[in-house]
Amino acid sequence: MRYAKLVECYEKLEKTTKKLEKRDILAGLYRDCEEDDLYRVTLLSMGAVFSAGGLELGIAEETIKRVIAKVTGAGEADVTKKFKETGDLGLAAEQLLKNKKQETLGRKDLTVEKVFENLRKLPEISGTGSQDKKILLIAELLSSASPKEARYIMRTVLGEMRVGVAAGLVRDALAKAFEQNSEDIEKCFDVIGDYGRVAQLAAEGKLHAEITVGMPVRVMLADRSPGLKEALDEFEKAAAEWKYDGFRIQGHKSGNKIKIFSRRMEDVTNQFPDIAKWARENIKAKECIIEGEALAVDKNLKPLPFQVLSRRIQRKYDIEKTVKEIPVQINLFELLYLNGVSYMNKPLSDRWNALKKIIKETDHFRLADHIEPKSYEEAEKFYKRSLAMQQEGVIVKNLDAHYQPGKRVGFWLKVKEILEPLDLVVVGGEWGEGKRARWIGSLILAARHGNEFVETGRMASGLTEQQMEDLTKKLKPLITEEHGKIVKVKPEIVVEVGYEEIQRSPKYPSGYALRFPRLLRIREKEDKGPKDANTVADIEKFFRMQGRKK
Ligand code: AMP
Repeated sequence: MRYAKLVECYEKLEKTTKKLEKRDILAGLYRDCEEDDLYRVTLLSMGAVFSAGGLELGIAEETIKRVIAKVTGAGEADVTKKFKETGDLGLAAEQLLKNKKQETLGRKDLTVEKVFENLRKLPEISGTGSQDKKILLIAELLSSASPKEARYIMRTVLGEMRVGVAAGLVRDALAKAFEQNSEDIEKCFDVIGDYGRVAQLAAEGKLHAEITVGMPVRVMLADRSPGLKEALDEFEKAAAEWKYDGFRIQGHKSGNKIKIFSRRMEDVTNQFPDIAKWARENIKAKECIIEGEALAVDKNLKPLPFQVLSRRIQRKYDIEKTVKEIPVQINLFELLYLNGVSYMNKPLSDRWNALKKIIKETDHFRLADHIEPKSYEEAEKFYKRSLAMQQEGVIVKNLDAHYQPGKRVGFWLKVKEILEPLDLVVVGGEWGEGKRARWIGSLILAARHGNEFVETGRMASGLTEQQMEDLTKKLKPLITEEHGKIVKVKPEIVVEVGYEEIQRSPKYPSGYALRFPRLLRIREKEDKGPKDANTVADIEKFFRMQGRKK
């Protein structure tokens, strides 16, 4: 497909705010698409080139400005000026390209395939000269693009399409395009987590996607419960498991081949060769999909804080060295698939019993602490022990419930001692003073509200110098505006924040403020991104819960 055809569609989408109209425009696009292009077109229509939770392009605005300057012949100052005028690097590229005397002669028509393939190469480029290589790939597209095409290419690179297409809309458009049921589309997505692939299956009329070894499944999530008693009362048959403060992983085994995925479905196999080895040695099954929580532990197997583990997750080189420095322990709690049979629709009691049978436990590769308590006292003792071991509390699970991928449906209830920490997005900050002048020391935080981020306050405490340094490094390329010492940044970094209380506050657009907020940890993007941040509705809920607790 010509890229120009997709661009026509983006334009139409941008012009209307009506959901049904948008759905019909998209449905038309998907229907008219050749089989070969459907995967690419579906993802590009969502402004992406990787499936949800997959790789991110990670191209900073500064890089884009350089590309635009290079291709249009404008100076970088002109690009910045245009960006300030329009607030959109897509429009800036479009207008600057219009001004340029176009040598349309000999310009090749851009195809969807070319745009998709060039952009997909970006995250893989690393090492010396990588910046220049990335610039070349984007510049190649821009030089063949018409001004309008340039607008959307730039926006795709930046991950800001501004055409109002969210997952729900794609689901409904696919349903319409291929005469399928929206619910089936969503179910299929929950299992395979990739709308590009879902589109292909919908087109073939094969939506009943089976869970497949090697393809990540969206993970099941937990709801919060105000207390242990309330959680236990919720289910006829309940299990309680320690809630480990670590990193969720999903392991896929097919013979000797092991793949490990993060909670956001990123392939992290390379970072965990130790877990892969244990899985080969200690799983007595030919094929399976299991889940567990990885913890960093010391020599005596005592759990270490999450920050230590995050060094393992970040590390992309010298892995063997980090494996030795930071040993991990994996605590398994789920079985989704075993030797050709999906276990997702079986009750937890069956999944757990089958998991127990196939795992040969070692100190580092073990089953999660799990009880099926006969009394409240037994559960309470178990819960206190988890807290004493610096873990987060327990998750109470419904033993009769199936595995519901990608959703919080109340089958798992987390019980924690402290008020629920919040995962908030950094939308700005303030440069420090004196000795701290080279760091962004105080952060402006926001909660999610639909596709927007709404301010909920500031946080300056709890940051060590190392954290300030790390955060500044991450935030600097994301700065979009600077006014004196205050900066605004693109909402990409998520931090976990503890606090003493949630208060109503007219001062912030969310309507709530946190009393004594403090940084608990900087989230890795593999763990939680802005889309996983807490919402204003969550804050409201916790606000009400806190009232009940008192
Ligand atoms: P939260 O991130 O607070 O919504 O809590 C859910 C997360 O707790 C899961 O995604 C897991 O990473 C983690 N977790 C720790 N222990 C368990 C467990 N025993 N069962 C399920 N999830 C667990």
